[in-house]
Parts: sequence; C-alpha cells; structure tokens
Amino acid sequence: MMAKQRLNHHLGLSGYTTRLAAYGDRLVPPVCLLCYSAPDIGHGLCSHCQSTLPINHNPCPVCALPDHGPLPCRRCRENPPPYRAIVAPFVYAKPISHLIRHLKFRQRLELIRPLTELWLEAVAPMVEHPMRLIPVPMDHRSLRERGFNAAIEIARVIGRHLSISTDVKRVVKVRRTPAQSTLSAKQRARIRSGVFQCIAPTTERLIAVVDDVVTSTETARAVAGCLCTDNNVSVVVWAIARTTPHRLCR
Ligand SMILES: [Zn+2]
Ligand SMILES: [Zn+2]
Repeated sequence: MMAKQRLNHHLGLSGYTTRLAAYGDRLVPPVCLLCYSAPDIGHGLCSHCQSTLPINHNPCPVCALPDHGPLPCRRCRENPPPYRAIVAPFVYAKPISHLIRHLKFRQRLELIRPLTELWLEAVAPMVEHPMRLIPVPMDHRSLRERGFNAAIEIARVIGRHLSISTDVKRVVKVRRTPAQSTLSAKQRARIRSGVFQCIAPTTERLIAVVDDVVTSTETARAVAGCLCTDNNVSVVVWAIARTTPHRLCR
C-alpha cells in the first residue's frame, strides 16, 4: 500500500476509533499502552511505567548528551554545530525506547500521544517557541516502506498544542543513507554532506527541527546546516530522546 494511502487509511479511521475508544472507556477504564497491566493514570501510561521514565539529567546544553553539562561538552566546544541547542528531555532507554520502537517499527501511531504529551509536559513551558517546526524528512523509498514519518507526526501534534505551524516541505532528503548504527562516527560525518536540501528560503528568526531520537547529532547538524544559510536564522532541535554515547540503554 502506498504511503499516502496508508496515512489516509489511518486518518480516516481515527475519528471512528476515537469515538469507539471514548465509548469503551466508559465501560472499561483505559490501561497502560506500554504494559497493558495497570490503569492509565495519564499520558496513556500507568504509574509504574511513568516512574521509570529515563530523564535526561545534566545534559550538555548544546547537544543534550546526558551527564555532560552544565557547560558545553568537548565535542561541542571543538566542533560547534550549526544549531543553537538540542532539547531532548529523555534518554533513549526503556520505556521511552520501547515506545519509540513500537511507534516506528510496529506502526503503533497511538503512541504519538503519550510521547508528545510527555515532551510537552517536560519542556514546553521552559523553551523559547520557534516560528516554524521542520520535521527531519525521510527519503521517498524509506517513507514508502514505513508508511509514515514519526518526526512529522510528532511535529504536527506538538505544533497543534503550541500553535506553531509545521512545514514538511522545506527540507528534503535527497539520498538514502545506511542506518546510523551501522556506521562509524567518521563515516556518518562523511555521508551527511548533501543528503538534505533546503528547497525554500528561510525567513523565520527561529526554527525548530523536530526528530524522535537524536543519535550521533550528524542528522541534526546536516538539517540545521542547510537551514542556516542566513546569519539571522537560529535553529534549535526538538527531540523526544537522546542516545547515550555507548548506547548502553538500548
Ligand atoms: Zn505500564
Ligand atoms: Zn555537547
């Protein structure tokens, strides 16, 4: 099924499933979307799952690397990125990693709600709001295979809550790249060149690039780099989670 058809299929069902869920909630209290074993106390999660959320403590103020604050980490000092800061309130560890993997690889689009609500609650009151959200794009083939882009879905929900419009066409990914986890840091840096292209001028003073997970920051650097062609433009990166250097918590 083509990506657009799949999305339309999902959106077409959403009104019906929302009404059905509301009706069902009156009969049976909703359960945790993660463990299915305890009542949902908010954001679709039970009290236990909420208590185990991996908070990103003391992050680098620029790249959000956990436990590398409060000053910018060595890499950010020696090789400053084109973005002003990455905002990622969670570490990519269970249960956040579980939610993101199920969203992306099992197409559980209902998990966008808890992920975005948790993000909004954790950081929205504390960060400067940009004029536009730019989701990290996927290449056409990957989008066709998955059927949706998690970054776009997350950006749209955050944008609706904060009244910020989302531009899904400003930046395009023109080349497919191998999975980041299969590459060394040097290889990632080499292949990022020319992967993303900005196809319209950026006139906003502040833009947020939105992604689900920031891994090596090479993608964030590449997308922000193609947007920052004007000195008057600042880019921040909004993500749900940040991986640790050694990915111990996968
Ligand atoms: Zn639970
Ligand atoms: Zn850093």
